[in-house]
Amino acid sequence: MDKMTESNHIPYKTEILVIGGGSAGRYAAKAAARKGAQVMLVDPGPFGGLCILKGCMPSKALLRSAHVRHLIVSELPELGLRLSGGQVDLDMNYIVDSKDRMIQDFADDALQGILNNPSITLVEGLFHFTGTHEGLISGRPVTFQKAIIASGTRIRLPHINGLESEDIMTSDDILETRILPKKVVVIGTGPVGLELGQYLHNMGSEVTILNINPEWGHGLDRVISEAYLDALRARGLSIQMGITNEWVDRTPEGPTLHYTHEGIEKSVPFERLLSAIGRIPDTHSLDLEAAGIKTAEKGIIKVLPTLQTTNPDIYAAGDVTGILPVLNVATFQGEMAGENATRKSPLPIPEPPVPIAIFTDPEYARSGLSESEAVFKGHSVVTGRIPFTDLGKAIVYRRTDGWLKIVANESDHKILGAEMFGPGASDLIHVIHVAIALGATLDDYQKILHIHPTFAEIFKYLIDEMTDAI
Ligand SMILES: Cc1cc2nc3c(=O)[nH]c(=O)nc-3n(C[C@H](O)[C@H](O)[C@H](O)COP(=O)(O)OP(=O)(O)OC[C@H]3O[C@@H](n4cnc5c(N)ncnc54)[C@H](O)[C@@H]3O)c2cc1C
Repeated sequence: MDKMTESNHIPYKTEILVIGGGSAGRYAAKAAARKGAQVMLVDPGPFGGLCILKGCMPSKALLRSAHVRHLIVSELPELGLRLSGGQVDLDMNYIVDSKDRMIQDFADDALQGILNNPSITLVEGLFHFTGTHEGLISGRPVTFQKAIIASGTRIRLPHINGLESEDIMTSDDILETRILPKKVVVIGTGPVGLELGQYLHNMGSEVTILNINPEWGHGLDRVISEAYLDALRARGLSIQMGITNEWVDRTPEGPTLHYTHEGIEKSVPFERLLSAIGRIPDTHSLDLEAAGIKTAEKGIIKVLPTLQTTNPDIYAAGDVTGILPVLNVATFQGEMAGENATRKSPLPIPEPPVPIAIFTDPEYARSGLSESEAVFKGHSVVTGRIPFTDLGKAIVYRRTDGWLKIVANESDHKILGAEMFGPGASDLIHVIHVAIALGATLDDYQKILHIHPTFAEIFKYLIDEMTDAI
């Protein structure tokens, strides 16, 4: 950030102002610059955005140590391997320091990518609107022809009677902590709750994960969703869905969470409670009303298919739109908003299938439409589902917990979507994701040869079964 422009009170003027230097903002700025616009990108710093600094990358760096520790502690014996000489010691200072070094490198690269672009001016500061085409960057006036809001999200905390702020940890805290709490309650079973819950468990904490929703993965395949949670439970996580009546009391030994699960009152003493109930758009300080921008519930900026807000010269991209808070959507929307902001008549953005993953062990992943989404969109569907238990590589690798489901259109057999969990699912899903994105049919896919033995053969096995059955 030291190379950023110093603030003073001479007004700034730019064609396109991008608010937020996270992934969506950087992609927006570069796309608009590529189209020939002069762009100003504003961010308060530290520069990098959520994915690099406090999201995808640091969490995956820590999870790698945790998954390998679990492998050594729990899975070596079934491979005929014994550790002589005892346990695996944790060097938390090394783990956190090496993660920090990687993150710094990613952040430096991201910053260089902006600083090296002659069409982008990076300004350090917090922006808020003062009118439809003007605002202040940490007090300094700025006018713009078009703007793109990519201000991301901030953490949301649960309201539980008796819970005190010192009891709570957020994902930000977990990524930094060098002293792991011994007993942790995680509230929330989204990707962050499951990934960080498993991180803590695999590093030696006792973890209970709770959710008020009765079912995990609403609208997704029940067999796969339940088998996925069972696979996580089999690796030592306590996960309870549909809990009610939570409250906290405390004794000199520490706090205890009380709740009701399936009609039974339960209690779990804890050292820390990890709040993983999601995030809310970071729009509170933008003064959106001054720019004529309306928001929906929780401050979400609703956008048209062109990514325009209720002010047609102002676009929004990334998590702030509340559409799907994942990196690939943020960068895609950023790029599309950047291009649209340079057009006289903005275009509706394409709607490609979106692959998403949860980086637990085993991993969960999906792409395209679930069965219920496909039916809701008016498709008559054929579906197939297969466990990993008969897959050669899964058997020889002793990793048979996994399922795959594929959804296809009944009339033309076009593959519409897939859901799966299993070893390496976050990479494996791309096999079928490419087929979905290119509009392949079951019959097209069935003709493709696969290497044997591989986990990717699971797609071939299932599609063979589905084409035989049609
Ligand atoms: C723990 C965790 C793990 C995750 N793991 C994954 C994963 O594995 N895969 C995945 O796809 N996604 C993951 N995500 C989600 C992913 O990080 C986000 O979807 C993505 O980073 C959102 O990018 P964005 O550009 O919309 O927002 P951000 O990256 O949050 O960028 C917003 C920027 O706007 C700036 N800003 C805010 N207000 C102002 C203002 N008034 N003026 C100027 N600037 C402002 C902020 O400082 C910030 O730099 C994870 C998230 C978390 C929390």
